Amino acid sequence: MNVLVINCGSSSLKYQLIDSESEAVLAKGLCERIGIDGRLVYQKTGLDKEVTDAAMPTHKQAIELVLQALVNDKTGAIGSLSEIDAVGHRVVHGGEKFAASTLLTPEVLKAIEECNDLAPLHNPANLIGIHACKELMPNVPMVGVFDTAFHQTMPRKAYLYGLPYEYYEKYKVRRYGFHGTSHSFVSKHVAEFLGLDYNKSKIIVAHLGNGASISAVLNGECVDTSMGLTPLEGLVMGTRSGDIDPAIMEFLAKKENLDIEGIMGILNKKSGVEGISGVSSDFRDLEEAYEKGVQGAIDACQVFCYRVAKYIGAYAAAMNGVDVIAFTAGIGENSPFVRKMVVEYLGYLGITLDEAANAERGDDKVISDAASKVKVCVIPTNEELAIARETVALVK
Ligand code: AMP
Repeated sequence: MNVLVINCGSSSLKYQLIDSESEAVLAKGLCERIGIDGRLVYQKTGLDKEVTDAAMPTHKQAIELVLQALVNDKTGAIGSLSEIDAVGHRVVHGGEKFAASTLLTPEVLKAIEECNDLAPLHNPANLIGIHACKELMPNVPMVGVFDTAFHQTMPRKAYLYGLPYEYYEKYKVRRYGFHGTSHSFVSKHVAEFLGLDYNKSKIIVAHLGNGASISAVLNGECVDTSMGLTPLEGLVMGTRSGDIDPAIMEFLAKKENLDIEGIMGILNKKSGVEGISGVSSDFRDLEEAYEKGVQGAIDACQVFCYRVAKYIGAYAAAMNGVDVIAFTAGIGENSPFVRKMVVEYLGYLGITLDEAANAERGDDKVISDAASKVKVCVIPTNEELAIARETVALVK
């Protein structure tokens, strides 16, 4: 079965065509600057990447171009559109309505729309992508896979904020968590990799990318995660602040003469390791500047790793122990420097690092040494494959 996986943003759209039997990627790419001018990136596996400037005033036109590329005579990955058996869509916010992936029926689309308030930047864009695909492929089954779904098992004590309860009742203000597809994929995969029983395990997943979050997975269920109502809570990220004293918002609004949009812009786009360092949001640049002794980069790396280590400690407490810590996403998979700095805080858990294994490149691997009481692993995440698997499970 061939599954087209779509991750649709407001002006961009990422896609992968996956053969669900072999789990091979047949082709992948993205559409950029939708509604502005338009650029299509397309790569059939095994061939060079093609980049074409192509007008795409709407998402529907962008998806049309993707479909044309997929069936192109010379570089297409499939002979005709009838070879696309299902489409899996990433949907950012499923609120409390979706604890699992679901077929996208008209009722489900309405329920997703009702979550737009909770993710005004993401959900409307996801829906535009879904509607465009439905128009172009009316007979192909479509599935929604939610970033929030895996975290719906969190207990009330983990998801209620210390706010008047009426705001939860009236507006569903609570902690939801994000990156759920990745936390689910990585926690399951690391248990399998280590030969653990997923349903009898204590796993902490550190998804450290430009956006970053941690989750505590107890006996196969998420019991806590660091992001909240929105993806702004928790860790210090590329440009997002993570946890701060909420009173800072009023303080800065007055000092800098900013309204709430101005403050939110600072917290989402000008903060995090970029804001602290003044160097970059990218750990490749930060590590280089750290080695050169740039104080801003030293502070940013230390603040980032210290926050990760504090959350790991909190989640070990939440689960009354931990068997495995899995690092994933851009930083977690590629930065021995960050992993080492985090693990150095964890000696009290009986964790000891195998420095050589940590420094090596490679996919699934254990980076703790034989004496370590907790296994520490690097597990590459694969959200597209996870979406394809969920899609197949629902349409088969
Ligand atoms: P993601 O959001 O998961 O795609 O992660 C992107 C981030 O991963 C980048 O902004 C970098 O901070 C980080 N990253 C990617 N490659 C490397 C690398 N080789 N070394 C350190 N950090 C990296």
